[in-house]
Amino acid sequence: MKPICMVDLQTQYASIKEEIDTAIQEVVSSAQYIKGPQVKQFEEAVAKYMGVKYAISCANGTDALIIALKSLDLPAGSEVIVPSFTFAATAEAAIYCGLIPVFADIDPGLFTIDINHAEKLVTSKTKAIIPVHLFGQCADMTRILRLANKHKLYVIEDAAQAMGAAHHFPCGTPHKGGTLGNIGCTSFFPSKNLGCFGDGGCIFTNDDIFAQKCRLIANHGMAVKYEHEIPGVNSRLDTIQAAILNVKLKYLDNYISARQKAASHYNEELKKVKGIKLPEKVKTSTHTYNQYSIIVEKGNRDELKKYLEDKGIPTMIYYPKALHQQKAFVQYVIDTKHLKNTEMICGKILSLPMHTELDEEQIKYIADCIIQFFK
Ligand SMILES: *Cc1c(COP(=O)(O)O)cnc(C)c1O
Repeated sequence: MKPICMVDLQTQYASIKEEIDTAIQEVVSSAQYIKGPQVKQFEEAVAKYMGVKYAISCANGTDALIIALKSLDLPAGSEVIVPSFTFAATAEAAIYCGLIPVFADIDPGLFTIDINHAEKLVTSKTKAIIPVHLFGQCADMTRILRLANKHKLYVIEDAAQAMGAAHHFPCGTPHKGGTLGNIGCTSFFPSKNLGCFGDGGCIFTNDDIFAQKCRLIANHGMAVKYEHEIPGVNSRLDTIQAAILNVKLKYLDNYISARQKAASHYNEELKKVKGIKLPEKVKTSTHTYNQYSIIVEKGNRDELKKYLEDKGIPTMIYYPKALHQQKAFVQYVIDTKHLKNTEMICGKILSLPMHTELDEEQIKYIADCIIQFFK
């Protein structure tokens, strides 16, 4: 059996090495390291894949969120509702734009924002909501868009973990997560569904004005060279990363299928284990399994983690602490009474190895070790 990794990017690279190496060499030879033709090519290809009018590439997923929020031109001190159970970037982006993150609880089964709780947090200062499509499955966008519509909130989707996931409205065709709100943001961090070989990010929108504004902000506020219309930032996707992404985008659906296959093997092997709860799958979204996260209901999560580690199985805790429990954000916390699901999940969640190269033998071994632990 191959050694088990949490994420195996080496084997994935080996399978497309020639194509990737050629693409990188082309950029190196051309010396167009910034704004080479591959960047525009990628933006067009990814917009087509997403079924969205505009894709604006940028330096990373955090920048994508910052640029998206900045483009809304909200008054300083406006409130933005974010789930407390997410990566720090979701809340950081609001703070960097002079906005106030307001932390909502999550649905303990789905790990995405609790929409009933979010609605209770709406005040006259609330201007936006950032649903996070955590672990690769879309939050319930039908209900989120309804809530946003009712309270006149902008919706910025954090689709960093859910590139390629499709949301299904009660009737009608599927739409890609990240194209449903006003603006969607994603990340090409190596371990995400579509990872480059460094940092990268992208903003998606169907709105002409937001698209123009985001592009302006990402490029020092310049539409015309050395004409700065607004203060912006320098946030670009490197040409080399775009060239890599042009190759990998073609394989994204295969990568997602490989993750889904691994998840279904886990489900099959682990379904009878008492003491753990397997990840729930909703009808309203496909699940791209950026993470396969179980809840350790009986006994000690940290003991299981240690047990698996000793058997050569790495696992991760996403996330050991909620954002409202972090020093960086504690000043924004209004009350923690209603963040109980978030806190409970932080203590019980465990993410198992999940990547495109995981094979059946490895999954069987991982599952057998988990079964043994609960015997
Ligand atoms: C990875 C991630 C980000 C940030 O992306 P970077 O490219 O690392 O800046 C934002 N939100 C979520 C939920 C993420 O998982």
